[in-house]
Amino acid sequence: MTESVFELAPKTEPERQYYFMENASVLIKKREEKVGHHLSFHVTTFGCQMNAKDSEKMTGILTKLGLDEVAEETAADIVLFNTCTIRDNANQKFYGHLGTLNGKNHKNKNRIVAVCGCMMQEKTCVEKLKSSYGFVNIIFGTHNIYKLAELICLYLEKNENVIDVWDKPADIVEDIPAVRKYPFKSGVNIMYGCNNYCTYCIVPYVRGNERSRDAKEIIRECEKLAAEGVKEVMLLGQNVNSYGNRLRNSIGFPELLREVEKVNGIERIRFMTSHPKDLSDELIEVMKASSKICKHIHLPLQSGSTRILKAMNRCYTGEQYLDLALRIRKELPDTAITTDIIVGFPGETEEDVNDTIDMIRQVKYEGAFTFIYSPRTGTPAASMPGRQSKEWIKREFDRVLKAVQDESRLMAGRFLDNVEKVLVEEMNEQDDKLVTGRMSNNLMVHFPGDSSLIGKLVDVKLTEYRGFYYMGRIV
Ligand code: SF4
Repeated sequence: MTESVFELAPKTEPERQYYFMENASVLIKKREEKVGHHLSFHVTTFGCQMNAKDSEKMTGILTKLGLDEVAEETAADIVLFNTCTIRDNANQKFYGHLGTLNGKNHKNKNRIVAVCGCMMQEKTCVEKLKSSYGFVNIIFGTHNIYKLAELICLYLEKNENVIDVWDKPADIVEDIPAVRKYPFKSGVNIMYGCNNYCTYCIVPYVRGNERSRDAKEIIRECEKLAAEGVKEVMLLGQNVNSYGNRLRNSIGFPELLREVEKVNGIERIRFMTSHPKDLSDELIEVMKASSKICKHIHLPLQSGSTRILKAMNRCYTGEQYLDLALRIRKELPDTAITTDIIVGFPGETEEDVNDTIDMIRQVKYEGAFTFIYSPRTGTPAASMPGRQSKEWIKREFDRVLKAVQDESRLMAGRFLDNVEKVLVEEMNEQDDKLVTGRMSNNLMVHFPGDSSLIGKLVDVKLTEYRGFYYMGRIV
C-alpha cells in the first residue's frame, strides 16, 4: 500500500473503514505468504458490557479481514486487548497479563499486539506501554475502535508502531460489522459516554460526554438483529434513562422502548444501566404495559446515606431512592430489583452503613453487587479525607453482605413453583445433562435438556430454589 492509497481513502464514514478493511485484507494476505501460514486473532476483553459490545465490533472487523478467531491468546497472530480502568488494580493486573504474554511471545516473532479501551485514554498508561512494553504495536482508545482496520493498515504498511488516542469523541459511526458472542441475544448501544461525574468513577473521563444514537439507527439495528435470529436485545448505556436528552428532536427512553417493542422477532428487551435520578414514572408505565420488556431493573444504590450520596455526587437522596424503589415494587410486583453498593467510601461512618442496611431491608433486593471502595486515581474521591481502616471496612462490608444475602434469599426464592419463560443460553458447565437459561427477571435456571434447546424460549416449572438460582423442568 502506498501513500496514495491513504490519500485515496474516502473521507466519510463508514465508507472509509470499509475501504481500509479491503486494503488491510490484501496486506494480511501478503503477510500470510511471507510467514507461510493463515493468520489468526484473539480478542481479550476486560470490564463491562460496553467493552464486550466494542469487542464484538472489533471481532467483526478482524473477521472481515479474513483472519480466523482462535481461543488461545498465545496461539494468535494478532492479539487485541480491550482494557478496563475502573479500578487502579485492574491496571496493575493488565500490566502483569501483558508481561506474561510477552514471556511466551518469543516463538511468534511476527505477532501483532494491539491494546485499546479505557486504560488507553489515560496518558500515563500509554506512556508506560511505550516505555516498558515496546512489543505493543498498536495503541488506540475508546473513541476510535471503529478504525481498527485503518490502524492495522498503517502498522503493516509502515512497519512502525501506531498510537492513535483521541481526547474527545467524534461523531458516532454506524454500520461497522460485528460478530456476536451469542446468535440469539445481543447488546445494542443506545448511547455512549456519561455526564454524571460520580466522584468515585473514571468513566466520564475515559468514555467522554453522553452521546445518544439516533433512534432510527437503533431500530434499524434491532430489525437487522431480529432478521438474523436474535430474540433478546440488551439496550446499553451508562445511563439509559437520559437517552435522547442531548439529541435534538429525539424521543426519550420510554418512547424508544415502545419502538423497540414493535420490532417483530424481538421477544425480550433488557436495558442497563438505570441511574435512579432519571428513572421516570413514564418508564414504569411502559414496563407495566409491555409484554417484551424483561421484569428486571438494575438500580444502582451505592449508599443508603444521603450524606454519602452527596459526597458521591449521585444527585438523589436516600429518601428519593427509597420512594422510587417502593414505587417500582408496587407498580411492577413481579419485577426483580438488583443493585450496586459501595462500602468504605471516604468519610463513611457506621451510621451511614446502617442507612445502607436499612435500605437493603426495605427494598429487599433480589441481588446486589457489593464492592469495597477502591480509590481511582484521577477521580475527586481519590483525594477525599476520611478513609477507614481495612479492618473497619471488612467488618462493615460483611454486615452489608449479610443483609443483602438475607433479603435476596427470600426475594429471589419467591418464584418457586411458578412456570416461567426461560431463554436457554448454554449447556450447564458442571453437568452435561442440564441446560442453563435465564428467566425474564434475570434469575438463572438449570434443567434437563440438550443443546438443541439453546437459543429457544421454553416454559420451565421452577421445582427447587438453591439460593440465587433455580432447578426446574420443561413443561
Ligand atoms: S453514572 Fe456515575 S457511576 Fe455510572 S458511569 Fe456515570 S459517572 Fe460512572
